[in-house]
Amino acid sequence: MALVNENFTKLAPSYLFSDIAKKVNAYKEAHPDKKIIRLGIGDVTQPLAPAVIEAMHKAVDEMASASTFRGYGPEQGYDFLRQAILDNDFTPRGIKLDIDEVFVNDGAKSDTGNIGDILAVDNIIGVTDPIYPVYIDSNVMAGRAGECRDGLWSNIVYMPCNDANDFTPSLPEERVDVVYLCYPNNPTGTVITRRQLKKWVEYALANDVIIMYDAAYEAYIQDDDIPHSIYEIEGAKKVAIEFHSYSKTAGFTGARCGYTIVPKEVTAKTDAGERVALNKIWLRRQCTKFNGTSYITQRGAEATYSPEGKKQIKETIAYYMENARIMREAFAEMGVKTYGGVNAPYIWVKTPKGMTSWEFFDALLAEANVVGTPGVGFGPAGEGYFRFTAFGQKEDCLEAMARVKAWLAK
Ligand code: PLP
Repeated sequence: MALVNENFTKLAPSYLFSDIAKKVNAYKEAHPDKKIIRLGIGDVTQPLAPAVIEAMHKAVDEMASASTFRGYGPEQGYDFLRQAILDNDFTPRGIKLDIDEVFVNDGAKSDTGNIGDILAVDNIIGVTDPIYPVYIDSNVMAGRAGECRDGLWSNIVYMPCNDANDFTPSLPEERVDVVYLCYPNNPTGTVITRRQLKKWVEYALANDVIIMYDAAYEAYIQDDDIPHSIYEIEGAKKVAIEFHSYSKTAGFTGARCGYTIVPKEVTAKTDAGERVALNKIWLRRQCTKFNGTSYITQRGAEATYSPEGKKQIKETIAYYMENARIMREAFAEMGVKTYGGVNAPYIWVKTPKGMTSWEFFDALLAEANVVGTPGVGFGPAGEGYFRFTAFGQKEDCLEAMARVKAWLAK
């Protein structure tokens, strides 16, 4: 008889976006004449850069001839892309990594979700709250999270982020073995300074903690004192694994490509106290469970580093950041407190008039016909907040803000 992995049964279905869709559909049915503006789901709207499209077309043509056809590629990615990653994302920042520390993947969700495969089940996990849900759910699936009580897992250490601590989590007081940090942050759009990140690296070095650093939004950083990579901090190569994605950087949410850095210096202990390099273990895991990202996609990702590719991607990011500016400034004029949106494509709004996240959602939909994401959907500390994304169209952002302004002035 087959037995199920019961850890999966502990997870409630992920209701957030289906609950939103249900409410929006019900409203649309009742008010078919209303034009709803969606600033909720974190998907991009602008097309892939022309340089990426051109590279992908060329790669498709290579597939059409026996002499240039590519079958299975290296599980950890083609060297042309791994080298381009090193040359563009790390070397210019003074970070020296070896090519076999780069693992190309089909997006950051896969590796942030799968990295726990190489860690023992009894590690204690620390997370910020609110949080990108994959970090917690994947640990629940692995049996690391304990039991869920009032929305919190008994074996997970939560580090709340709110306006009281300016969205900077304190170092955990309890013992943790692995910490997930995401900067620029989804959902709050807040960032971490080099000085603050240094504290985390020093803490990890002193306490034998591994930091899982999700840098999926680093391309949105505008300020010079905000690190793009944790490896800008001395010592981080001993304690940190870092995740990158072309999804938000270059519109690859549908094309699928990202990469993970697993430095050879990062180690974890066996029960017998021997230290094992995680790079080797991750390579073994990937070679067994992953068969590489498609050649065509990797050629597209490589093109994001060409001079034209870089320029085109920068323009798209500037387009989204203009949306962020429009929303930030509009809320400031309305007297509504916001966070983020300066070095990240997310605006985190403190709900006005003491409304809960869902009360604000309902009122915003009914009064302004605008859809966003209730902050509480990202964790208990998100209650009383609301996320808007900058990934929409500029005209929609302008119209949405005009409607919200008219509603709140009533
Ligand atoms: N990490 C964070 C913080 C995200 O918000 C997302 C996507 O929304 C991802 C990772 C996954 O991105 P992808 O799998 O598209 O690379």
